[in-house]
Amino acid sequence: MLGQAAVKPGILAQLEAAVLAGLPVNADIASLPRAVWGNKKYIFESWASKKLARGRKSWVYLHGECVFEINANDVKIEEWWCCRRCDAKGRPERLWKAHSTTAVANHLDKYVSASYYLCPLPN
Ligand SMILES: [Zn+2]
Repeated sequence: MLGQAAVKPGILAQLEAAVLAGLPVNADIASLPRAVWGNKKYIFESWASKKLARGRKSWVYLHGECVFEINANDVKIEEWWCCRRCDAKGRPERLWKAHSTTAVANHLDKYVSASYYLCPLPN
């Protein structure tokens, strides 16, 4: 392991592991697996809203995934964009409102090639 500290699986890492393990078919939110981070719980947006996920065109979605935060009663309470790179570093707790692509773009600006800007952001 070359002395690398083990990183706690982030929100996306937990959800992707759940996908690999197999999801229940036509499950409601209560029976879906969820990622737990701090005292909050998340599911992939695409599990609960297929229409929404398909409509996403901005390049920022190449660099992260949208998740729903769910409450103790398994009800969706907020939609977030989770940065794939921060998640892999074990720091997924900084989430962005899923529709604020400008704020997300500013975050990604630190490490995404300028060539991505050839694709215009949606209004
Ligand atoms: Zn990030």
